[in-house]
Amino acid sequence: MINKIMKEARKIVIKIGSNTISNEDGTINKNFLKKLCEQIHYLRGLGKQIVIVSSGARIAGVATIGKWKRKSDIHYKQALCAIGQVELMDSYRKAFAGYDIHIGQILLTKGDLTDKHRTLNIRNTLFTLVDEGVVPIINENDTVSVDEIKIGDNDTLSALAANLWDADLLIMFSDIDGVYDKNPKEYKDAVLLEKVINIDHLVKNIQMGEENPFGTGGIATKIEAARKVNQYGIPMILTNGQHEDVLKNLLEGKQKATLFTAK
Ligand code: ADP
Repeated sequence: MINKIMKEARKIVIKIGSNTISNEDGTINKNFLKKLCEQIHYLRGLGKQIVIVSSGARIAGVATIGKWKRKSDIHYKQALCAIGQVELMDSYRKAFAGYDIHIGQILLTKGDLTDKHRTLNIRNTLFTLVDEGVVPIINENDTVSVDEIKIGDNDTLSALAANLWDADLLIMFSDIDGVYDKNPKEYKDAVLLEKVINIDHLVKNIQMGEENPFGTGGIATKIEAARKVNQYGIPMILTNGQHEDVLKNLLEGKQKATLFTAK
């Protein structure tokens, strides 16, 4: 099923979590990026179009200016995101340059996605970038967004972006193979759920752990993102982005994952 969906999908949004893109010390995992770009290049060769939604700005900011690590002041947190966003995009730019692929940065706030005119502009820009062979990389504009006006996490943002762009598929990378009946990091006997059709049923029947220290929302926001795209008929695949050749293996049906689909 997953390999069929992968083969048929032309417009794919890939969401990359901070756990996936960073090393344990918070620096950006350049090796991961290199392999990601190689696989995206391969997918594009098959006629697919890719949009990335990437976390990692804050974690990269902390890795760059370590002495701000313990600052709890919101302005310092936002300043760290401003610094880290540059590190993040610089790493993407260098990795994609190896394949002669240009990238474009799109930073969004909640307001951008609720205002009709702004939404239309974003949509047009996305289509233009992709049609011209550029890979757009979307992130929340953390410098502008404070809690009250935040999208809040990139799981939600990636779902909104997939809906806005009329994607055929949302692939969400995390550090686990998919959704389990309980937190696989706490329980060795947790069972992977390979296909989810009924999200209400899923939510009632699994245990979800706490959100991670970088506050990206944990598994709950990933499930809600699936609900958002499934409503528009877009399937979502949740899988471990750190596995070797993950995208190629999804294509060949060799990668463990959870498929969320309305049918
Ligand atoms: P990311 O930074 O990759 O977006 P998060 O850390 O926000 O990921 O969320 C994924 C984490 O959710 C996993 O590492 C896992 O420990 C945790 N988790 C809690 N409950 C579950 C569950 N039932 N199934 C899968 N993961 C779960």
